[in-house]
Amino acid sequence: MNGVKHMKWWGWGVEGIAFHHEDKPNFAPFVLEKVGLDVNAPSGRPPTFDEIEVPASQLGEQLRGELVGALGEKYVVTEHMDRVVHTFGKSVRDLVRMRRNQLKRIPDVVVYPADEDQVRQVVDAAVAADAVLIPFGGGSNIVGALEPLAGETRQIVSLDLGRLNKVLEIDEESGLARIQAGALGPALEEQLNRRGWTMGHFPDSFTHSTLGGWIATRSSGMQSDKYGDIGDVTRGLRMVQPGAVLVLNPLPATSTGPSVREMILGSEGRLGVITEAWVNVHRLPEERVILAYFFPTWSKGLRAMQAISKSDAQVIVARISDDRETAFSFSTQKKQSGVKKYATEAIFKLLQRRGWDLDKLCMSFIGFEGTKAHVARQKQLVKEIVTEHGGMVVGKGPGALYDQKKFDTPYLRDFLLDRGAAADVSETAAPYSKLETLYDNTIAAAEEAMAEVGCNGYIMCHLSHNYHSGACLYFTFAIADDSEQVLEKYDHVKRAIQQSFIDSHGTLSHHHGVGLEHAPWMAQDISPAGERMIRELFDAVDPKGNLNPGKVV
Ligand code: FAD
Repeated sequence: MNGVKHMKWWGWGVEGIAFHHEDKPNFAPFVLEKVGLDVNAPSGRPPTFDEIEVPASQLGEQLRGELVGALGEKYVVTEHMDRVVHTFGKSVRDLVRMRRNQLKRIPDVVVYPADEDQVRQVVDAAVAADAVLIPFGGGSNIVGALEPLAGETRQIVSLDLGRLNKVLEIDEESGLARIQAGALGPALEEQLNRRGWTMGHFPDSFTHSTLGGWIATRSSGMQSDKYGDIGDVTRGLRMVQPGAVLVLNPLPATSTGPSVREMILGSEGRLGVITEAWVNVHRLPEERVILAYFFPTWSKGLRAMQAISKSDAQVIVARISDDRETAFSFSTQKKQSGVKKYATEAIFKLLQRRGWDLDKLCMSFIGFEGTKAHVARQKQLVKEIVTEHGGMVVGKGPGALYDQKKFDTPYLRDFLLDRGAAADVSETAAPYSKLETLYDNTIAAAEEAMAEVGCNGYIMCHLSHNYHSGACLYFTFAIADDSEQVLEKYDHVKRAIQQSFIDSHGTLSHHHGVGLEHAPWMAQDISPAGERMIRELFDAVDPKGNLNPGKVV
């Protein structure tokens, strides 16, 4: 109607794409063995939209009149579908509550401004009316960064940035692009690629998340080892605040006091609305390749990733799955036949002859980009490190498959929910010296928590990003439960995992942000004094708490 498309209201992504297991012969036995769930049994289904009880809009005539005056009737929407789509992100808590008809307080109106001036008028009208204003990018966050507070009595305006979706200019000499905050990943990359450039930011949610959302949640992408996370990529920006527009010109570096840019990164709508940003962009590489490697154990694989990060090798990604996630990945492979099947069996036989325990096998993906000569040199350097650490090069096939399929994996969560299992992720970062203990503690804490709530469950992990001094560990976990108490049980397991991060010298989140879900751990993560500084910053900019209240702290 207004040209802005959203994900389906009840799940991930777009209608018509879903996870299927029929062509993956090992998937059903794997799930049955690990969590006791028969994925072949008759499945449930998400409700139809008619079954959802949508609370009435509380938008008053005065605020409505001001919004319509600023944007026009068409872009001030109180339809049920728009309001529901803008209520939650896409965490499993969000999906379960949506499926179970548990909508409490939802936005009263969704507005779709066309430019910064309209954003300014919406912000000023909302604040003057003492309404709550929640910026909305792609709606893909998984930390409760969008949902209105339960019991909010003020009017709630969801401000959708979807019409601000253009690459406005490229400063080719500097390698910078000015891009509107509502641009989704594919839209901005397509506009850059047409002119031979890339931003190089590819979170797994790339297809359904926006530049403004990435900045507001401090996102990381699959290739952040090369390009940096969004904090590194973002060099300047504009943000609409009550009665003001904050402008940061793009700079390679600056020493002008504490960094305002850094204060805005991760602010989750609490300091204002980002309308555009200057970001680093790069020439499209001549060659790009992702190779697969095997390691005999998680421990050896972790050490290899650390060695790569400390070496001269320049990689775009160096990722390794633990044995649990490797087993899961194998279970999602399609049926093999002919030469492929023969080659796979030959590799496994070779590994067994070398004394590898195949149950402990860990798969790794390492990526390279640049000129052909550069890629060849990096591959050689990495091969030497991998071999030194007891690993082996598998080749291009699995790497290419992983690269093609990575944006489809999220559909699996909806498939599992239909069949009575709730799955989600928790991720952290810690110094290398703490990493293995953090991993062991977290697996143990999650399994204990699953036993305490009486659920069959599974937890698995991969290392996703490497830094000079440490790395990000990314845990995926699932519990088989479709009782009325599934969210209480899920929360119990999630809490155990988050607490384990903090107790094991990790951070409560490496790249998903804080929202409502992680806020209870903020004082433990950054100390009570750090938490107070953030709270006072938010109070100073937004004294009446109109801007996405309750998120972060
Ligand atoms: P939204 O969810 O719409 O909003 C997130 C927060 O930012 C909200 O508080 C909102 O108010 C605020 N906000 C949005 N736009 C603006 C703006 N213009 N100005 C001010 N505030 C704003 N994250 C990663 O970093 N890496 C990953 O690989 C990754 N993979 C994911 C995979 C899946 C399946 C899912 C469900 C999520 C994943 N995420 C990942 C999390 C999520 O995609 C990120 O947090 C993303 O940055 C959110 O962007 P969005 O545009 O969807 O923001």
